[in-house]
Amino acid sequence: MIAKAKEVLQTFFGYEQFREGQKEIVEKVLKGHDTIGILPTGGGKSICYQVPALCLEGITLVISPLISLMKDQVDSLAQSGIHATYINSSLTGEEIDQRIMKVKKGEYRLLYIAPERLESPSFLSFLQDLPLSIVAIDEAHCVSQWGHDFRPHYRMIRPMLDELEQKPIVVALTATATPEVLQDIQNHFRIERVNVVMTGFARSNLSFNVVKGVKKQAFLFEYIEKNKHQSGIIYAATKKEVDHLHSFLQKQNISVAKYHAGMDKEERGEEQERFLHDDAQVMVATNAFGMGIDKSNVRYVLHYNMPKNMESYYQEAGRAGRDGEQSECVLLFSPQDIQTQKFLLEQSHFQEELKEKEYEKLKQMVDYCHTESCLQRYILTYFGDETTVTCGKCMNCLDDRPKIDVTTEAQMILSCIKRMGEKFGKTLVAQVLKGSKNKRVLEMNFTKLSTYGLLKKHSEKDIVHLIDFLIAEGFADLKGDQYPVVILNEQSKMVLMGERRVWKRKIMTTEKIVVDDELFERLRKLRKRIAEQEKVPPFVIFADSALKDMSRRLPTTIDQFLMVKGVGRKKAEAYGDLFLSTIRAFIEEKGIHPEASMKEQKQNNNEAPSYKQSFQQFQTGKCIEDIAKERGMSVVTIENHVFRSIQEGQSIEWSRLISANHEEIILEKIKEIGKEKLKPLKEALPEDITYREIKAVILKYSLSKALF
Ligand code: ADP
Ligand code: MG
Repeated sequence: MIAKAKEVLQTFFGYEQFREGQKEIVEKVLKGHDTIGILPTGGGKSICYQVPALCLEGITLVISPLISLMKDQVDSLAQSGIHATYINSSLTGEEIDQRIMKVKKGEYRLLYIAPERLESPSFLSFLQDLPLSIVAIDEAHCVSQWGHDFRPHYRMIRPMLDELEQKPIVVALTATATPEVLQDIQNHFRIERVNVVMTGFARSNLSFNVVKGVKKQAFLFEYIEKNKHQSGIIYAATKKEVDHLHSFLQKQNISVAKYHAGMDKEERGEEQERFLHDDAQVMVATNAFGMGIDKSNVRYVLHYNMPKNMESYYQEAGRAGRDGEQSECVLLFSPQDIQTQKFLLEQSHFQEELKEKEYEKLKQMVDYCHTESCLQRYILTYFGDETTVTCGKCMNCLDDRPKIDVTTEAQMILSCIKRMGEKFGKTLVAQVLKGSKNKRVLEMNFTKLSTYGLLKKHSEKDIVHLIDFLIAEGFADLKGDQYPVVILNEQSKMVLMGERRVWKRKIMTTEKIVVDDELFERLRKLRKRIAEQEKVPPFVIFADSALKDMSRRLPTTIDQFLMVKGVGRKKAEAYGDLFLSTIRAFIEEKGIHPEASMKEQKQNNNEAPSYKQSFQQFQTGKCIEDIAKERGMSVVTIENHVFRSIQEGQSIEWSRLISANHEEIILEKIKEIGKEKLKPLKEALPEDITYREIKAVILKYSLSKALF
C-alpha cells in the first residue's frame, strides 16, 4: 500500500519522498486507523489526506474552516490532475445542486466543505449515501475550546460521523499541539495516543530575529526595499496601524495590500487575491489575516508589534517559507508593545483565571524578545520540544555586531527621570533632555533641572529611542497602562552608581534574504503569465521551490523536467514545453555546457533530505567549507547539517571539528560559565578557538551526557 502511496506522491505531486511525519500518517490512514497528525505550518499536512484519497476507493470529505482557500486548493489539485470540488456559501444554490449531482455520479475524489454545512439535514442525508473513504479534518484544533481558534461548528463533526452507516477513516490535522488541545482533539474524535503522529516543531528554513531600538517605520521601509521582489507579510497590532502603514508604503511606491476586520468583506477578499496572485508584494494586516493562507512563497513575515503570546507569534511567523526555501521572521520590539498588550488584556472579558494565564504567556513572549540565546531553541523549548542544538542562523546565533558603550547617555537619561520625580512619560523626559522650550517643560519649571538640555545634540526622536532601548533592556520600567510613566528600578540604580555599563548593539542591518538568480526571475515571470491565463495564483502553478530546483538542475528534456521537485506528470504535460524552452534559451544565451547541468543533476537527485546530503559529503572527507561552496549554501548551514546528523545518531571523528588541544580549554570554560550563551564563551576563550569548536564540544558532551 505504501508503495502505491509513493507512486501517487510522485506522479501527481512530483515529490520523490514523504516528509517527516507524512509517511507515518499516510501509513496509518491506509491501514484504516483513525489518526491525528501534528505537523508544523508548511509541514505538508494536505498530502496526508490527499495521497490516501487517491489510493483508496471512494471519496474523501475534507472539512476546513476557511472558505476563502478552498478554491485555491481545488484549483491546485486540478493543476496536478486530481478531480476535486468544494461546496460552501460562496456558491449559489444552483451551483451547489450541480456539484452535488456530480459528486453523486462519482466524478470527484475529494470534496471540501466548511463545517457549517453540517447544519443542513439534507446535506447530512446526502453524505449518508456517499461512499466516503476518509473524513479529513483540517485545522483540527478548531474543535478545542482551549485552542486559539475555537469553532463551535467543529463540534458537529463527531455526531455526523456517528450517524454514518459506513464508517470512514478519520484523519485530523493541525499545527497546534499544546497538550490541552491535543487531549481535546483525541477525546472528541476518540483517537488513541498510539495513533497520534507528531513531528518536531523546528522549521529549519526560517531564521528568527528580534529588532529593538530602531525607528520602526524607517527600518520597515528599508527592509522591504531590500527585498523588493519577495513576497512578505507585515503584521501590525491594530487596524489603525495597518491603515497607516499601508498608506505610508503606498506613498513609497511599494506594491502593497492590506487586510483587517474593519474593511468590508469584498474589499478584504480583493486585497487577499492581489497578494496571493503576486500582484501585491507586501501584505499589511492585523492577525485577522492568514489563517489557512497557503501561499507558499512568503519569504518574510515581519511583526511591526509584538504579539500577545508565543502561540500567535509562531503561527503567524510560520507563514513564511512554507515551500521550505530560506525565509526570515523579524519582530520589531518596543516596550510600548507590552503596554498595548496589557491594555488589550485588561479590556478583555476573560475570567480572572484565564487572564492570569494570558499574563504569564505575555511575559514569556517578552522574554523571547530579550533572550540572548538561540531564538529557534527558545521557541521549541516553549512548545515542549527540548533540544540542545542551536539553529545557527537566528540573530543571537549569528550575532557579531559591534557594541557601543552608551553608559554616559544612559546615566543622563536615568538621572533626568529621577529628577523629574518618576512621574512622566518618555516624550516629556526626552524634551527636557533635548532642552525644549515647550509649554509643559516651562510650566513645570524643568528648565531649572541640571539635566535640562544635556542631550541637546541628539534629536528628540533619538532620545526617545534611547529611552525605549533602556526599557527594553530592563534598565528602567514603565508603569501605568494608558499613559505609562518611566520609573527606575534596581538596574537603573546600578547604572547611575557606575556599577553597570550599558552596551548598545549596532542596529541590525537589513540584508537580502535570497540572492538574485536571473533564471529564477525569468521562470517566475513565465509562471505569472501562465497563472494569469489560468486565473489561479502563481504558486498553484509551481511553488518557488520548484522554480529554484529548475534553475539549479537546468533540465532540457521532459524526462529531466519530471525530476524537478514539485513537477508531476500532469504539470509536466501542461507546462513542460514552456518552461523547458525558457531554460534552453537561458543555457544557450549564457553558453552553459549541458554536461555541467547534468553533473549537478546527479548530485541533486540524491534522495536524502538536504542535511543528510551534506553529511554524506562530510563523511567522504570533504571539509565544511568545501561542501558549502559546492552546494551553494552558507558555511553555517552546512555546519548545522552536520550537527543535526550527529544529534540524530550519526557518529563522526570529533577531531575533524575540534582541535585536540582546544577541547580541554573549552570544557573548562563551560564548567566555569555555563553553556547557555555562546557569545560570552567565545569571548572568554582564546581567539583562535572558533564558534564551531565550541558548539561541537557542547554537542559532544551533551550526547555522552558526561557533563550536562
Ligand atoms: P501545511 O498544511 O502543513 O501548512 P501544506 O500542505 O500547505 O502545509 O504544504 C506546504 C508546502 O509543502 C506545499 O507547497 C507542498 O506542496 C509542499 N510539500 C508537501 N509535501 C511535500 C513533500 N513530500 N516534498 C516536498 N514538498 C512537499
Ligand atoms: Mg494546511
